[in-house]
Amino acid sequence: VPALSLKMEGFEAPATIAMSMRARVLAAEGKKVISLALGQPDFFTPKVAIDAAYQAALDGQTKYPPIDGYVSLKKAVQQKFQLENNLDYGLDEIMVANGVKQILFNALMATLDAGMDDEVVIPAPYWTSYPIMVRFLGGQPKYVVCSEDSNFTLKASDLRAVMSEKTKWFILNSPSNPTGAVWSKESLLAIAEVLRDYPKVWIFADEIYEHLVFDGQQHYSLAHLAPDLKDRILTANGASKTYAMPGWRIGYAGGPKRLIKAMLKIQSNSTSGACSVSQAAAVAALHHGTQAVEEMKQAYDRRRKMMQDAFSNMPGVTCAVPQGAFYVYPGIKGCIGKTSAGGRKIENDQDFAESLLDEQYVAVVPGSAFGLSPYLRISYAADDAVLEEACKRIATFIKQLV
Ligand code: PLP
Repeated sequence: VPALSLKMEGFEAPATIAMSMRARVLAAEGKKVISLALGQPDFFTPKVAIDAAYQAALDGQTKYPPIDGYVSLKKAVQQKFQLENNLDYGLDEIMVANGVKQILFNALMATLDAGMDDEVVIPAPYWTSYPIMVRFLGGQPKYVVCSEDSNFTLKASDLRAVMSEKTKWFILNSPSNPTGAVWSKESLLAIAEVLRDYPKVWIFADEIYEHLVFDGQQHYSLAHLAPDLKDRILTANGASKTYAMPGWRIGYAGGPKRLIKAMLKIQSNSTSGACSVSQAAAVAALHHGTQAVEEMKQAYDRRRKMMQDAFSNMPGVTCAVPQGAFYVYPGIKGCIGKTSAGGRKIENDQDFAESLLDEQYVAVVPGSAFGLSPYLRISYAADDAVLEEACKRIATFIKQLV
């Protein structure tokens, strides 16, 4: 039989996808499954964006788009960086791609050398795609733990301990998926201080959840706080989370010309530019989406409080207050070693998540998928009533543990 690449050895679908597939199977059997496993907004894309895409299609914006993005979108992104992030990027320092996922893939592919032991420092818990992409492209992920004690944010001293001559990238994701942690200005300045000592290290600032910050917290772009590092920071963002547009596949980045140019070479030979009518939708969202973002943010904030409250009241569970994104990351140390009502021994968070799904039909993702156990990642991008029901079922599951 024809062989698959050796690269494919050890590659599994991310646990987030695995859990939602299992949930789908149960739902098909007629079970009333609630899935809080996926990180996607439950809101509709703002109408103004949909209208713009429709109009663009009617106007003939259906040809191959420019590899780096239409000038209209690049200008809207440029303005967004100026107004929201205090960052000045020239148009040749900005590119558009099929999501932040592709931005990251391009960036890693343009810089990592397989077989050279290039290391990528990733704070854990992390978004599952970071280490998978790094390994896929021949690099080595190096994890640095952000513990619950420090609200899942990174201590500069811990960062310093893992940086080395082999470090090629440092990935920063604030607000964070999966914990909802938001890095303060002070902690970002401390991190910048460490990064100054490693001038050969690229920095990937994944700011995709920047608009979802709560409790009066503020999002800061690292490239703004540390302008002397700007020429090696890639500031990535996109339409998926902010404007409830994950299916449109629009991400963008600002960064040094040399890196952007290399990333565009890769993009031109892999996918070409991002979907033409999606780009028109993103322009409209960037120009006219503020009101929609504000409304979604209020809903997320309400749900966040409800979830955090529910989990902090469950026995054996700890729940740090998430200050951003749309996830809670409760700790379940107190549940380990117990047995579920269905007779399953809960040895770890994977067992917990699987038996919760099998017995109470609620899909969540075990912390092991994100590099810090025993925790659960629960997305609250779902209707309030659905979340309430999910919390009730989880509380029942926990109450029945013996
Ligand atoms: N970065 C983080 C931290 C995410 O959580 C996600 C999506 O879950 C992405 C990037 C991917 O975003 P996009 O839809 O722009 O590819």
